[in-house]
Amino acid sequence: MMSVFDDLMAFQRETEALAQISGRLGWDQETMMPRGAAEQRGEEMAALEGVLHARRTDLRLADWLDEAEPQDDEDAAQLRLIRRSYDRATKIPADLAQRLARVTSTAQGIWADARAADKVADFLPTLAEVIALKQQEAAALAQGGDLYDALMDDYEPGATAETTAAMFDRMRPRLVRLRAAVLEATAPPKLDHHFGENAQMRFARDLAARFGYDFTRGRLDLAVHPFSSGSGSDVRITTRVVETDPFNCFYSTIHEVGHACYELGIDPDYLLTPLGAGVSMGVHESQSRVYENQLGRSPAFTGWMFRQMIDRFGEFGVDSPEDFARIVNRVQPGFIRTEADEVHYNLHVMMRFDLERALIRGDLAVADLEAAWNDRFLADFGVAVDRPAHGMLQDVHWSVGLFGYFPTYTLGNVYAGCLHQALRRDLPDLDDQLSRGNLAPATGRLREKVQRHGGRYEPRDVIARATGAAPTEAPLLDYLDAKFGALYGL
Ligand code: ZN
Repeated sequence: MMSVFDDLMAFQRETEALAQISGRLGWDQETMMPRGAAEQRGEEMAALEGVLHARRTDLRLADWLDEAEPQDDEDAAQLRLIRRSYDRATKIPADLAQRLARVTSTAQGIWADARAADKVADFLPTLAEVIALKQQEAAALAQGGDLYDALMDDYEPGATAETTAAMFDRMRPRLVRLRAAVLEATAPPKLDHHFGENAQMRFARDLAARFGYDFTRGRLDLAVHPFSSGSGSDVRITTRVVETDPFNCFYSTIHEVGHACYELGIDPDYLLTPLGAGVSMGVHESQSRVYENQLGRSPAFTGWMFRQMIDRFGEFGVDSPEDFARIVNRVQPGFIRTEADEVHYNLHVMMRFDLERALIRGDLAVADLEAAWNDRFLADFGVAVDRPAHGMLQDVHWSVGLFGYFPTYTLGNVYAGCLHQALRRDLPDLDDQLSRGNLAPATGRLREKVQRHGGRYEPRDVIARATGAAPTEAPLLDYLDAKFGALYGL
């Protein structure tokens, strides 16, 4: 006898399978698709999106959700996630969803052109339109509650703007202080060598495997922007190669491996169910960041990497593992978030969070955004923005309607700090292992404590269960002070 719960899960499984197909079309578009196929691909993806939307708002879901009886906590968690998705899909009026899809699809092109031409004015009318629609969407979702919270909930369920803002305000002074101290110290030597593409990709593959990436259930390709795509038994990653800066390729790869290992590490019983995906963008980013930074950029691991690179590329003008560690962990002021080091990165995010929250609340007019951006950048970074492409036009997020997404980057770093502290406590010989290029003890523990649970627990609970304490910003800030203090002799 099929129960109502079984019927619901069978339906959901098909929806999840279709969503995976949609994701794979997206992967193909960025890696393999012939250029001339773009228009047809747009139509294919829109058709699939229509099918998915119809399934996510299918009227039978309401009855099933009312009548389904969970047999255990896992069933209850599945129902909770299906209900969340159903409520969200049905709260937003269909015509609003369509207008948002239409405006954001053209807005991305307008933003890209405005950025290339360095013309803020070309983007502002479109941005105003996107914000107005996102405000309507937020109002439909919030039903009287905070608009920004409603948007953030899509990416980090349970997080609120108020607690996030309070945490960011506690973090900022310490980061600004650390930045100032590091920039006064002696800078690491410059890297001046050519690192061939094929050798870079070979090492990237080796790094991916060392960090636990399973090439029988994934693949590594080149793309303009590194990303990870898919879940279950097919999780693919991309990277890029800059022949004068090999760390771009290596650390993009390790970062995406962290995202991919989260998806690959989920309990196979959850395959193609709501529990079979990472629980939030913040927890996702905690995996990519702890792989990339706390493990991959640790002086213990870069010591191993230094010897590997000499074997693979020959002498490249760096004399010691100490200098190499400082080069890998170079801190330098810069305008661009995606190129920022560990000390600067969160300052970029906090600034975007405050600005976009003010935009959504209507406290900041689109016309005043550029001035607000530039004032804030000068205050936090000590440098004046030289052109809009280096300022408010640098990120794609706002053009495609991603409001409430930025704070999850820093939440991910905060969670990574907590997980790293727990790893150090639980694995006393961690540095020993890292210095031999052995990531297995650390990544195995993260799989066991975080990754395997998928969507089973709420974001903060996953971290609390993994570390034994509710997440706070202190471990990340202590780690940054200690690491950069030692590297820069502060
Ligand atoms: Zn990431």
